[in-house]
Amino acid sequence: MTGTPATPRYDLPEADAFTRTYWDAAWQGVLLLRRCGACERVHHYPREFCPHCWSEDVSWFAATGRATLHTWSVVHRNDLPPFKDRTPYAAAVVDLAEGPRMMTEIVHCAHEDLRPGLELEAVFPEGVPKFRPRGGPTGA
Ligand SMILES: [Zn+2]
Repeated sequence: MTGTPATPRYDLPEADAFTRTYWDAAWQGVLLLRRCGACERVHHYPREFCPHCWSEDVSWFAATGRATLHTWSVVHRNDLPPFKDRTPYAAAVVDLAEGPRMMTEIVHCAHEDLRPGLELEAVFPEGVPKFRPRGGPTGA
Protein backbone atom coordinates (compact mmCIF):
# COMPACT_ATOMS: atom_id res chain seq x y z
CA MET A 1 0.00 0.00 0.00
CA THR A 2 1.42 3.33 -1.00
CA GLY A 3 0.85 6.68 0.56
CA THR A 4 0.51 5.36 4.10
CA PRO A 5 1.28 8.30 6.34
CA ALA A 6 4.23 7.94 8.68
CA THR A 7 2.10 9.17 11.54
CA PRO A 8 -1.15 7.41 12.34
CA ARG A 9 -4.25 9.56 12.01
CA TYR A 10 -7.06 9.22 14.48
CA ASP A 11 -9.51 11.45 12.64
CA LEU A 12 -10.21 9.31 9.58
CA PRO A 13 -12.61 6.37 9.62
CA GLU A 14 -11.74 2.74 9.18
CA ALA A 15 -14.63 1.35 7.18
CA ASP A 16 -15.73 -2.25 7.44
CA ALA A 17 -18.03 -4.07 5.00
CA PHE A 18 -21.12 -2.68 6.72
CA THR A 19 -20.05 0.96 7.15
CA ARG A 20 -18.35 1.15 3.72
CA THR A 21 -21.67 2.33 2.21
CA TYR A 22 -21.86 5.17 4.72
CA TRP A 23 -18.30 6.37 4.14
CA ASP A 24 -18.52 6.02 0.35
CA ALA A 25 -21.62 8.25 0.41
CA ALA A 26 -19.87 10.75 2.67
CA TRP A 27 -17.11 11.05 0.08
CA GLN A 28 -19.87 12.00 -2.37
CA GLY A 29 -21.19 14.64 0.03
CA VAL A 30 -24.18 12.62 1.22
CA LEU A 31 -25.01 11.85 4.84
CA LEU A 32 -26.68 8.45 5.10
CA LEU A 33 -28.92 7.46 7.97
CA ARG A 34 -30.74 4.21 8.74
CA ARG A 35 -34.52 3.92 8.93
CA CYS A 36 -36.40 0.99 10.42
CA GLY A 37 -39.05 -0.58 8.21
CA ALA A 38 -40.88 -1.97 11.25
CA CYS A 39 -41.20 1.08 13.54
CA GLU A 40 -40.10 3.75 11.02
CA ARG A 41 -37.70 5.36 13.48
CA VAL A 42 -34.37 6.72 12.29
CA HIS A 43 -31.10 6.01 14.06
CA HIS A 44 -27.48 7.04 13.93
CA TYR A 45 -24.68 5.84 14.18
CA PRO A 46 -25.51 3.10 11.62
CA ARG A 47 -26.42 -0.29 13.04
CA GLU A 48 -27.45 -3.54 11.38
CA PHE A 49 -30.62 -3.68 13.50
CA CYS A 50 -33.01 -1.07 14.85
CA PRO A 51 -31.91 0.09 18.34
CA HIS A 52 -35.55 0.90 19.18
CA CYS A 53 -37.38 -2.34 18.30
CA TRP A 54 -34.50 -4.67 17.33
CA SER A 55 -35.88 -5.26 13.85
CA GLU A 56 -33.32 -6.10 11.19
CA ASP A 57 -35.54 -4.45 8.58
CA VAL A 58 -33.40 -1.31 8.41
CA SER A 59 -32.23 0.46 5.29
CA TRP A 60 -30.12 3.43 4.26
CA PHE A 61 -31.54 6.75 3.10
CA ALA A 62 -29.97 10.11 2.30
CA ALA A 63 -30.41 12.69 5.05
CA THR A 64 -31.00 16.36 4.34
CA GLY A 65 -27.71 17.24 6.02
CA ARG A 66 -29.57 19.75 8.17
CA ALA A 67 -29.14 19.89 11.92
CA THR A 68 -29.23 22.20 14.91
CA LEU A 69 -26.52 22.54 17.51
CA HIS A 70 -27.38 20.72 20.74
CA THR A 71 -24.18 21.14 22.75
CA TRP A 72 -20.47 21.55 22.14
CA SER A 73 -17.07 21.74 23.74
CA VAL A 74 -14.11 23.68 22.46
CA VAL A 75 -11.14 21.32 22.68
CA HIS A 76 -7.87 23.07 23.44
CA ARG A 77 -5.67 20.02 23.84
CA ASN A 78 -5.60 16.67 22.04
CA ASP A 79 -2.27 14.91 21.65
CA LEU A 80 -3.48 12.44 19.00
CA PRO A 81 -2.36 13.34 15.48
CA PRO A 82 -3.56 15.29 13.63
CA PHE A 83 -5.81 16.91 16.24
CA LYS A 84 -2.93 18.57 18.07
CA ASP A 85 -2.35 20.73 14.99
CA ARG A 86 -6.02 21.72 14.86
CA THR A 87 -6.74 22.89 18.37
CA PRO A 88 -8.82 24.64 19.38
CA TYR A 89 -11.71 22.93 17.60
CA ALA A 90 -15.39 22.56 18.42
CA ALA A 91 -16.48 19.00 19.22
CA ALA A 92 -20.27 18.94 19.19
CA VAL A 93 -23.49 17.00 19.46
CA VAL A 94 -26.08 18.03 16.88
CA ASP A 95 -29.76 17.19 16.45
CA LEU A 96 -30.22 15.96 12.89
CA ALA A 97 -33.37 17.15 11.11
CA GLU A 98 -34.39 13.47 10.84
CA GLY A 99 -34.26 13.04 14.63
CA PRO A 100 -31.09 11.29 15.76
CA ARG A 101 -28.28 13.00 17.62
CA MET A 102 -24.81 12.84 16.13
CA MET A 103 -21.33 13.42 17.51
CA THR A 104 -19.44 15.66 15.12
CA GLU A 105 -17.31 18.76 14.76
CA ILE A 106 -18.41 22.30 13.93
CA VAL A 107 -16.27 23.99 11.29
CA HIS A 108 -16.22 27.41 9.63
CA CYS A 109 -17.66 29.07 12.72
CA ALA A 110 -16.05 31.39 15.23
CA HIS A 111 -16.34 29.63 18.57
CA GLU A 112 -17.90 32.69 20.22
CA ASP A 113 -20.72 32.46 17.66
CA LEU A 114 -21.72 28.94 18.74
CA ARG A 115 -25.09 28.84 20.48
CA PRO A 116 -27.73 26.22 21.23
CA GLY A 117 -30.11 25.75 18.33
CA LEU A 118 -27.70 27.19 15.76
CA GLU A 119 -28.87 26.07 12.31
CA LEU A 120 -26.28 23.85 10.64
CA GLU A 121 -25.60 22.05 7.39
CA ALA A 122 -23.33 19.10 6.71
CA VAL A 123 -19.98 19.44 4.96
CA PHE A 124 -17.60 16.60 4.16
CA PRO A 125 -13.94 17.58 4.39
CA GLU A 126 -11.84 14.49 3.54
CA GLY A 127 -15.06 12.48 3.40
CA VAL A 128 -15.87 12.98 7.08
CA PRO A 129 -19.26 14.51 7.95
CA LYS A 130 -18.93 17.77 9.88
CA PHE A 131 -21.25 20.74 10.23
CA ARG A 132 -21.04 24.45 9.58
CA PRO A 133 -23.54 27.28 10.10
CA ARG A 134 -26.26 27.09 7.49
CA GLY A 135 -25.97 29.77 4.85
CA GLY A 136 -22.23 30.18 5.14
CA PRO A 137 -19.40 30.76 7.56
CA THR A 138 -19.57 33.19 10.44
CA GLY A 139 -16.49 34.86 11.81
CA ALA A 140 -13.22 32.98 11.48
ZN1 LIG B 1 -37.54 -0.24 14.68
